[in-house]
Amino acid sequence: MMVVNSLTETQGAQYVQHVFETVKKRNPNESEFHQAVKEILFSLAPVFDKHPHYMEQGVLERIVEPERQIIFRVPWVDDQGKVQVNRGFRIQFNSAIGPYKGGLRFHPSVNASIIKFLGFEQIFKNSLTGQPIGGGKGGSDFDPKGKSDGEIMRFCQSFMTELAKHIGPDTDVPAGDIGVGGREIGYMFGQYKRLQNAFHAGVLTGKPVGFGGSLTRTEATGYGTVYFVQEMLKDNGLDFQDKTVVVSGSGNVSIYAMEKAMQLGAKVVACSDSNGYVYDKNGINLDTVKRLKEVERKRINEYVKEHPEADYFEGCENIWLIPCDIALPCATQNEIDETSAKILVTNGVKAIGEGANMPSTLEAIDVFLENGVLFGPAKAANAGGVAVSALEMAQNSARISWTFEEVDAKLHEIMVNIYHNSKNASEEYGHPGNLVVGSNIAGFLKVANAMISQGII
Ligand code: GLU
Repeated sequence: MMVVNSLTETQGAQYVQHVFETVKKRNPNESEFHQAVKEILFSLAPVFDKHPHYMEQGVLERIVEPERQIIFRVPWVDDQGKVQVNRGFRIQFNSAIGPYKGGLRFHPSVNASIIKFLGFEQIFKNSLTGQPIGGGKGGSDFDPKGKSDGEIMRFCQSFMTELAKHIGPDTDVPAGDIGVGGREIGYMFGQYKRLQNAFHAGVLTGKPVGFGGSLTRTEATGYGTVYFVQEMLKDNGLDFQDKTVVVSGSGNVSIYAMEKAMQLGAKVVACSDSNGYVYDKNGINLDTVKRLKEVERKRINEYVKEHPEADYFEGCENIWLIPCDIALPCATQNEIDETSAKILVTNGVKAIGEGANMPSTLEAIDVFLENGVLFGPAKAANAGGVAVSALEMAQNSARISWTFEEVDAKLHEIMVNIYHNSKNASEEYGHPGNLVVGSNIAGFLKVANAMISQGII
């Protein structure tokens, strides 16, 4: 990547290379984890050149090793009465600045590599929010697609029966991610309450608003991504007005990224799911997408039945063939590869805002940076979700609830701050405008300083 290529063989560069080799050796065959570690470590080399005491304190060796990894059996009974077994994970990565915090992902692709990459990124993302939250992640290879409500409930109850032993409002606070929304959080909260015989509102975030959830949490990741991009555009004399926007995915992040982009005057022409994408040249009808996805839990190809002027195409990755000014990848990891990135650039894309976690490969990021595309990396651009989770924890602790407008205003302020902190760090460490380097460094420093203050632990 550009960051890597620009390095000379400084002490910092040698140090990160050495630690990266250990990570690969100790975690073989975990390509997603290696990718996330590589991006962050190589961005940090300038920090170690400038401040060698982080090396002397072994901060990097410690930060790449999770504090604790829990892997467990999740048995449940399906609607046919058959016993099913899934694997559950909770990786408690770093608690230097607060309790472990991060979502739970239910998706058949989940394995140790996926949860580790997500947990590792979460450390730096959470630090960037300015909120007192450490980093963790969890989930299961359970596939919620096509499951009945009863199956989802029984799975969530079984999952929580083990997870409950390892979490708590001051220890580890899970939330949602792919495949986990308000419904699943509700079932898991119910089971936790029953096991503990106590109403610990702050043990999970993303709760339904009726029992401790925060207003704006549902919208937070998508809105936050657009607020981040809005600030990045503004800083470069641009805005969303009349821009053509492509948003991948059609889940929670995607829906609210589309909503906010539309509110800011953009025309969103496409969205997708894992089977394919919809292109609506008149602009996506968000009410239809919300009903299909949030209420009816249907596939996105149903959209064209109601909007015959729109087209549906099989193969979600081809969504990046659509010319756009702004691309918001909000689906999943590695959804933009080098080829897709080059096509976006050829079609004149001006800005990218990563709503998903690690949606661009390292090669794709290089293409964007080398071509001067404004690039908002995931751990900065999608930090709004977890930021509002931290606000949910604050409201739970104080037993109060803020209005939608109050939370939205705080979210906006947090995203603007993340942009400027990342930009400032990119300048201070010699890569002006490279927000990958800037956000990684800004997120790292706060955690590293806390780790040093707390001694070798
Ligand atoms: N899963 C979200 C993320 O990737 C949110 C986590 C949370 O709210 O704790 O940041």
